[in-house]
Amino acid sequence: MTEILNGEAHRPGRIEVVCGSMFSGKTEELIRRMKRASFARQKVEIFKPAIDTRYSEDNVVSHDQNSIRSTPIESSGSILLLASDIDVVGIDEAQFLDNGLVEVCNELANRGVRVIVAGLDMDFKGVPFGPIPALCAIADEVTKVHAICVKCGALAYVSHRLVANDKRVLLGEQDEYEPLCRDCYQKAISQEK
Ligand SMILES: [Zn+2]
Repeated sequence: MTEILNGEAHRPGRIEVVCGSMFSGKTEELIRRMKRASFARQKVEIFKPAIDTRYSEDNVVSHDQNSIRSTPIESSGSILLLASDIDVVGIDEAQFLDNGLVEVCNELANRGVRVIVAGLDMDFKGVPFGPIPALCAIADEVTKVHAICVKCGALAYVSHRLVANDKRVLLGEQDEYEPLCRDCYQKAISQEK
């Protein structure tokens, strides 16, 4: 994982994106970066879409229970209102937010805020998800994290949905999705047809 060697404090405004499939450790990486910034006495705040209420209303909770407080928001515009006076803004599950998030992140970074965005890069069909592709384009740094393919142990690239449901926004846990590599995903979907 890339580290910036001049320390956590006194960074200029920047946009960092942490993206990947489900079970790739995106939220854990977001929390790690936020905790380091907070150890450096920076004011940090995590926002997440109100739609993601899997574990608790006001916590980003990653799968390993390593949690940090967060604020649920209905739309990306709320971040600008709520983030005045914050040094490091974290955004989790950003794929569920509107495309206005791209401008919001730019504006925050231009103000000198460090913005760390975590989200799914693709949906369960392998299609780029919400504002994440555009955020990757404008980011100063993109970290793509990988889960492990449950079939063969290679690096996974997509979260394959096991239940028959075509709705794009379906939040779930291990029993509804499995991380697969490109080869195993192709085999899985050809068997479904
Ligand atoms: Zn595989």
